[in-house]
Order: sequence, then structure tokens, then C-alpha cells
Amino acid sequence: SFDVLVIGGGPAGSAAAIYAARKGIRTGIVAERFGGQVMDTLGIENFISVSHTEGPKLVQALEQHVKSYEVDIMNLQRANALRKTANGIEVELANGAVLNSKSVILSTGARWREMNVPGEQEYRNKGVAYCPHCDGPLFKGKRVAVIGGGNSGVEAAIDLAGLVSHVTLIEFDSQLRADAVLQVKLASLPNVTVIKSALTKEVLGDGSKVNGLRYQDRISNEEHAIELEGIFVQIGLLPNTEWLKGAVELSPRGEVMVDAKGETSVPGIFAAGDCTTVPYKQIIIAMGEGAKASLGAFDYLIRHSVS
Ligand code: FAD
Repeated sequence: SFDVLVIGGGPAGSAAAIYAARKGIRTGIVAERFGGQVMDTLGIENFISVSHTEGPKLVQALEQHVKSYEVDIMNLQRANALRKTANGIEVELANGAVLNSKSVILSTGARWREMNVPGEQEYRNKGVAYCPHCDGPLFKGKRVAVIGGGNSGVEAAIDLAGLVSHVTLIEFDSQLRADAVLQVKLASLPNVTVIKSALTKEVLGDGSKVNGLRYQDRISNEEHAIELEGIFVQIGLLPNTEWLKGAVELSPRGEVMVDAKGETSVPGIFAAGDCTTVPYKQIIIAMGEGAKASLGAFDYLIRHSVS
């Protein structure tokens, strides 16, 4: 049985495990894929104190750091269910095993909703991007599109308009869904074009990078192509929390609700990183939140456990 069992092996889970292990308590990590979203990232330039690194390289460093402590790493294992019992918390894995722990830290991250159009996968990291805070500066002076007219799409378009030469915002619906104040700001920007009732059909490229986008006007059914160098997909970030429904309180978006110490609605169960309600999904934030949730769990243990 563990004192702290971390579910998820991305930046949040790694930080949580290191902080727990440094307290000399029994620590485990269950991860479907150690490294999480960082494994899918090419250049990282906003991990403060490291001016440039690459995802797999950062994951290797994370893994080395975790392994320098006594942490039981259960990689390639998926957690399926969680329940509080009289003695602690039970976590059931997809392979049928049941793990017991006095406290649990949920750090299962999130995934970007994709457009599912031809070219999207091929040109991922070659012009197709999902995070304006991460990749915006790569498109300085270039032309980009933002797909999605909700709050995150409109925020991304406003943000990018200050860096790139031109932004085309493409919305499927006949109107934007972002807050009015954001729409007013967007409309005031000279280098932004908004196209509504448009269905993105294809990411175009020259074989090595994006050079355009094809969309269909949903009213006339006509197809159009736009020349550009980058496409930011902003149609939703989905937390990996489907398996937690009913076990801990989730927000309407499915994010795990946490308090200032990272504790969920269930005492002894903490959460950190992209799977939670904490705003701004970034590596450095996930790590800080992981450390915080782990200290929260330690605090819980010294108050609640007898041995
Ligand atoms: P994740 O990294 O998503 O890790 C989640 C972990 O949980 C994984 O190990 C996963 O396998 C595991 N898991 C999920 N479900 C289960 C389950 N049921 N059972 C067991 N394990 C499970 N941020 C930056 O700061 N800078 C960047 O440059 C940057 N670039 C990015 C580029 C891309 C393409 C993407 C996708 C993201 C980028 N981000 C960047 C965002 C950053 O990667 C995330 O904010 C960060 O990884 C979140 O960390 P996390 O630990 O909360 O979750």
C-alpha cells in the first residue's frame, strides 16, 4: 500500500512524485504513457531557465529525476476507477489490479480536440499548432489562421494579432461564441479577418510545412483556399477525467475541481495540472501545481494517518 499514489506521469505527476518521495513516504506513479503531452512537443522555449529544449529530451530528464528517488513507476498502465474505502483509496487499473493508497494525486492531463481533416496530423508541429502561448512566436511576421470562435479561439486570435502579420479566424457557426468584450476587441484589430459559417476541410502543405488551408462556405457550399504559414486549432481542450465521473467533483467542462492546496471534493484525493480547473495549461504551471498538490497530500497524511 502507498502513502501517495500519483495517477499520470506528465510534468504534474512527475513533480508530485518527486515532492512526495523527498518526504520519505511510499510513493507510486501509474502512467498510461510517461511524459504525457510533452512527448508530443517539439520545441519548448518557455520552460523558464531552459531557453530551448525538446519534448522527448525534457521527458528523459523528468524520468531520470523521478528515478533518482524511490518511486514505484508503473508505466503503460491505465487507471479505470477510483473509490474511497474505510482504509484509504482504491485505484483499479485496466489490467484488473487494484492499488491501495492513503492519498491519491490525479494528474491525468488533457488532450486537444482535433479537426480530423486531411493534413492535420501530417503537418502537426510543421505549421499546425494548438498552443498560442507556446508556438505563437514561431509565426512572428507570418500569416496564420485560428480555428474556433469560442473564448480560447478569440483570445488566441487577439494574442497572435500582436505577433503575426495577419490572422484569419474561422468559425463553423454563423456567429462567434466568445464573450462580447473579446469580440469587440477582436473587431478593433486591423490585421484580423473573421470568416463565419465555414467548415475547415483540409490543411494544405508543400510536403514539409503548411502553406494553406481549404474551407467550405456552409451557406453557398463553395470551397475556398487561403494561403498562410500556420494554423492554430482552438476547438477545445478535453481533460482526461471521463473515468472520474461520480468519484470526485468535476466542473461542467469535466475538469477536476481543486482548492488552493490542490485538494478535490474528496479528502485525501488531490489533483494537479491540465486535468484540473486551474487556468492556463502549461508545463511550468503543471509542475508547480504538482508540487503543491503533493505538499497538500503530505499535510493531509500527517494529520490523518496513524502509521
Ligand atoms: P499531461 O502532460 O497531459 O500528462 C498526463 C499523464 O497522465 C500522461 O502520463 C498520461 O499518459 C497519463 N494518463 C492519462 N489518463 C490516464 C489514466 N486513466 N490512467 C493512467 N494515466 C493516465 N506547454 C508549455 O509550457 N510549453 C510548450 O511549448 C508546450 N507545447 C505544447 C505542444 C503540444 C503539441 C501540446 C499537446 C502541449 C504543449 N504544451 C506546452 C502544454 C503542456 O504539454 C501541458 O500543459 C502539460 O504537459 C500538462 O501536464 P500534465 O502533467 O498536467 O498532463
